[in-house]
Amino acid sequence: MASPLLDASPDAIAAAARRVMARCDELARVTATPGEIERVYLSPEHARVNRLAAEWMREIGMRTWQDAAGNQLGRLDPAQTREAPALMLGSHLDTVLDAGRFDGIVGVLMGLEVVRLLRRRADDASFSPFPFALEVVAFSDEEGTRFGKALLGSSAVAGTWDEDWWDLVDADDVTLRRAFLEFGLDPARIGEAARHPDELVGYLEAHIEQGPELDRRGESLAVVSSIASARRFQLEVEGEARHAGGTPYDMRRDALLGASEAALAVERICRAEHHIIGTVGQFEAFPGAVNVVPGEVRFSLDLRGEFDGERDRVWGAITNDLDMIMGRRGLRWRAREVHSAPAAHCAPLFQDIVREGILATLPPGADDPAVIFSRAGHDGMALGAITDIGMLFLRNPDGVSHHPDESVSSADVALGIRALAEAVLQLAADR
Ligand SMILES: [Zn+2]
Repeated sequence: MASPLLDASPDAIAAAARRVMARCDELARVTATPGEIERVYLSPEHARVNRLAAEWMREIGMRTWQDAAGNQLGRLDPAQTREAPALMLGSHLDTVLDAGRFDGIVGVLMGLEVVRLLRRRADDASFSPFPFALEVVAFSDEEGTRFGKALLGSSAVAGTWDEDWWDLVDADDVTLRRAFLEFGLDPARIGEAARHPDELVGYLEAHIEQGPELDRRGESLAVVSSIASARRFQLEVEGEARHAGGTPYDMRRDALLGASEAALAVERICRAEHHIIGTVGQFEAFPGAVNVVPGEVRFSLDLRGEFDGERDRVWGAITNDLDMIMGRRGLRWRAREVHSAPAAHCAPLFQDIVREGILATLPPGADDPAVIFSRAGHDGMALGAITDIGMLFLRNPDGVSHHPDESVSSADVALGIRALAEAVLQLAADR
């Protein structure tokens, strides 16, 4: 590996990590539901955390603005160049309902600490020229909690906003268009949030892992190789509803038993594949009476993997099995695809700098850090349309996420800040 470029004292890094943890607590108090954490898009809480983030950005010398989609940004231009393209660091500040305090939030706050550590270098002409500006972005909607559509904030930045989204409604039938106006944003100006690929060097995000892989390995940090995307299906199995007492087994066409076998087949096939995970999350039997053989079952399937080709091949294997199962039981089945998106791959250069960054936190001669793919969605999926993306995962004990119990240690955050700052310097040296 290259020799570490960051010259920050362990005390400075530890103080940075403590500040991140304290600010996670402070942001957790900005909530729509007392006793829980709930911050959805275009809410008063969204406005409050944007104001806080902007304050923290200005405190380290960044120029700040809220863009046309309600994302909060800060920018630090290098001393030697104006109008340089920017490396974006960040994540999101919105949450699911009854959320934890770290998902997304920690990535924004770590981005700020990296800027604080690198500010002198970027600002001071006595250092070798810093070849890009640093931006920190706090995306306004990643989770899709309010309007049922994820990545709204980052899609606006990527210029992939869909005009159909204006008519999305929240639980109170408020349209996205009206929520924009009530928040003080002008829907007609949404295009101004979009960034041109030439303005960006890339997007680098730190995020807690939303699984137990790092905890199981006993490691703090991982390089993310890609962000998996799901294919989702609604499946229907059709048999015959008949009297539960009067119908002998050899005459039954029980849709529930066929669908149950199908769900088990999904598990068996996906378990045999290293990088594919399939989940049947909804399951409903009709007519749903205690004394009637189920004539119809509807269930969902969420299928995700590191590579789209593998995922699609596994879907093929599942359909073959379902044909066999249903044929044997005299049932009919059909599937309707309701969602499909390609995986977003982290750029090889960005995987390299994140790896170098993590190695800088380990003793000399340590093994290469873990490389894992994200099974959950992230803002990088949208940003990948316009720029290179990279991600760093932090250990999340037990892998609990989207839950008040999600956690990360201050020690791991300190390592993450060092790794992220080092990655940025490696990228600067590389250019
Ligand atoms: Zn997140």
